Amino acid sequence: ARKFFVGGNFKMNGTKESIKGIVKNLNEAQLDPNVEVVIAPPALYLQLARDELTKTGVEVSAQNVYNKPNGAFTGEISVSQLKDLGVHWTILGHSERRTLLGETDEIVADKTKFSIDGGVSVIWCCGESLQEREAGETIAVIERQLAALAAKVTAADWKSIVIAYEPIWAIGTGKVATVQQAQEVHEAIRKWLRANVGDEVADSTRILYGGSVNGKNCKDLAKEKDIDGFLVGGASLKPEFVDIINSNQ
Ligand code: 13P
Repeated sequence: ARKFFVGGNFKMNGTKESIKGIVKNLNEAQLDPNVEVVIAPPALYLQLARDELTKTGVEVSAQNVYNKPNGAFTGEISVSQLKDLGVHWTILGHSERRTLLGETDEIVADKTKFSIDGGVSVIWCCGESLQEREAGETIAVIERQLAALAAKVTAADWKSIVIAYEPIWAIGTGKVATVQQAQEVHEAIRKWLRANVGDEVADSTRILYGGSVNGKNCKDLAKEKDIDGFLVGGASLKPEFVDIINSNQ
């Protein structure tokens, strides 16, 4: 069985005080022990979050990492620096980085391979725009993104990848995908993995849904057979994040 996974992507939000508060809330909460929880504060606060976290089963993640060991790459963060801080996860390929910062399928795949080789696991994001959905291109877009990834990683690397399906039109809009819309894409992702990578990877890879997940809509989504957890933005900054973590009970 796939262990339920809930990630909190704080994006470019938070202060020392607010992040301490969020971590304190998690430390004190009753969390389902069968859930893997990863929070991704801005890089500046990774150390703080690590230091404040006392809860077992909750880990810290970066939101991005660069695909070079280290050197003259102003403003970037290296995999070895994450490991130096005790950080073993990063989000990669978030649609905000793809669209606002020009990251291509190939760059994202490259960074994914580089992170895994360096010992940092990856929450790899994919998803279609509203225009692509309305044009009936959703599955084709996801398959294109998956193909770019699969071309760069080995069968063994998939153990270090969690997929997050995040339809761009659902991110930060309050317009969550319906249970059917989400399940349909998750099923298509698993089918693609089965056909192009193999049964073991298809059966074991967690596929998260992200996009306007909150404490209310999470329960129904969590019931779907191909939805193995969530990648949460706005609601991960609020106490209801605990309800989302516990939504699979
Ligand atoms: P929201 O939950 O704020 O819609 O953001 C989703 C997301 O982008 C998580 O990575």
